Amino acid sequence: MKHPSSLKEIVENGLCLGCGLCQSVAGPDRVEMDWVDPPGRLRPRILRPLDEATEKAILASCPGALLDEPLDPKRHGHEAREDPSFGPWIRAWKGHASDPEVHRMASSGGALTALGLYLIETGEVDFIYHVTADEERPMRSRSHVSTTREDVLAGAGSRYGPVAPLDRFVEQLDKGKPFAVIGKPCDISGVHNMRKIDPRVDELLKYTMAFSCGTFADLQCSRWMLERVGFPGGQEGEENLSLYRYRGYGCPGPTRAVDKEGKVYDEKYLSFWYGNHGWTHQFRCKICADPTGEATDISVADAWPGGGPTEEEWGGYSMFISRTPRGDALMQAAIDAAVVTVEVDDIKTLYDVQPHQAVKKQGINARLKAIEDSGSPGPVFHNMRLDQAQAQNDQEFFDSNHEGTRVRIEKGVNRERLA
Ligand SMILES: Cc1cc2nc3c(=O)[nH]c(=O)nc-3n(C[C@H](O)[C@H](O)[C@H](O)COP(=O)(O)OP(=O)(O)OC[C@H]3O[C@@H](n4cnc5c(N)ncnc54)[C@H](O)[C@@H]3O)c2cc1C
Ligand code: SF4
Ligand code: SF4
Repeated sequence: MKHPSSLKEIVENGLCLGCGLCQSVAGPDRVEMDWVDPPGRLRPRILRPLDEATEKAILASCPGALLDEPLDPKRHGHEAREDPSFGPWIRAWKGHASDPEVHRMASSGGALTALGLYLIETGEVDFIYHVTADEERPMRSRSHVSTTREDVLAGAGSRYGPVAPLDRFVEQLDKGKPFAVIGKPCDISGVHNMRKIDPRVDELLKYTMAFSCGTFADLQCSRWMLERVGFPGGQEGEENLSLYRYRGYGCPGPTRAVDKEGKVYDEKYLSFWYGNHGWTHQFRCKICADPTGEATDISVADAWPGGGPTEEEWGGYSMFISRTPRGDALMQAAIDAAVVTVEVDDIKTLYDVQPHQAVKKQGINARLKAIEDSGSPGPVFHNMRLDQAQAQNDQEFFDSNHEGTRVRIEKGVNRERLA
């Protein structure tokens, strides 16, 4: 397979996932994230020509173009085992944040917020680098540096729209202080790629955490939601918002728009995601080889009863997976301090509560082959156990995944443009 040889080629071949790391690596005077709208995606804009060294650094760090997440004795110790679908793991638990406020505000079990708070309150890190709603334009989201309980709590809940969590990542390294990053699996892959480029990552980044991720919706999907719930101004009503939340305040909790007078317009989670209406998302998520955060210290996932969301609120439980000794020690400390309430579980439970992620991984080889057959450049995926995952399924499954991707490419779904 051919691979992209520039930032422009990454984006134009549908490999960009909008993380913003290229802005941080090149510097905001050379690359800035901006909207390609419609459909409402964050993509890099090249402000000044990039020299060879910068292009090289972007190609080596961009998680859209490169995943390389080997089981590494230096990072994972000798205790970690490898699951074909879900990657390195030491221990697994099921549970939730012990603090009822955290549990209620958060997406599911409040695992990430509880662990983030614990790290701040014990002084293990100086700040958490993650995302929150944009206060000025609450339907949008932005990267955020949290140093207090209030800050960390403000980030609780899934932001199912576009955000560039890594647009200021190098700035965080420049501070020279210990910190932790919470993000999507691909955000953490970008951070992980940076380990090879900048030694400060290993020195300062104490913990990485991610949630299981299926994809996110283009911004236009949130505008369509405003129309569906009768929000003032309909699709054009963004300026009338005082709050926009995708999830939380119960589990799964509604997608909630609140106008400037405080009137609430809710749509149920199932309707937002699975309703009979238009819905769009980026091509890159269709070839995501790491949807569960294999490069993290700790990853979490919704422990959906029955393997998927239902109409009912179910209280919200998270699966916690420690992947490195460092992540395992943090989990043990959080359990001992009663920050999280958990029972011991097994990685196999993920096959019940996150079956779509195992199936997705099994189809990635076929999807990559379709990209190769089309002659388009594709990503470099190293050490992702894609052959092992493929072997868990059959030829018919391979063929249908190949065909689906072939058709998507034929329709031009992978053709994108810089901002
Ligand atoms: C884009 C997206 C896709 C998802 N797909 C799945 C899925 O396929 N299966 C599934 O079970 N669950 C999915 N989830 C939900 C996710 O699993 C839960 O958020 C997770 O279980 C964490 O729950 P929690 O209660 O511990 O998180 P919380 O305590 O609510 O903390 C969430 C943390 O994630 C950060 N965050 C929120 N949105 C984003 C974002 N867009 N990018 C980067 N960081 C963000 C916040 O800053 C916060 O620190 C998805 C969430 C998102 C945002
Ligand atoms: S995936 Fe991230 S680093 Fe790569 S091009 Fe897109 S925004 Fe830049
Ligand atoms: S599905 Fe994969 S590539 Fe897409 S946003 Fe989630 S982690 Fe990133």
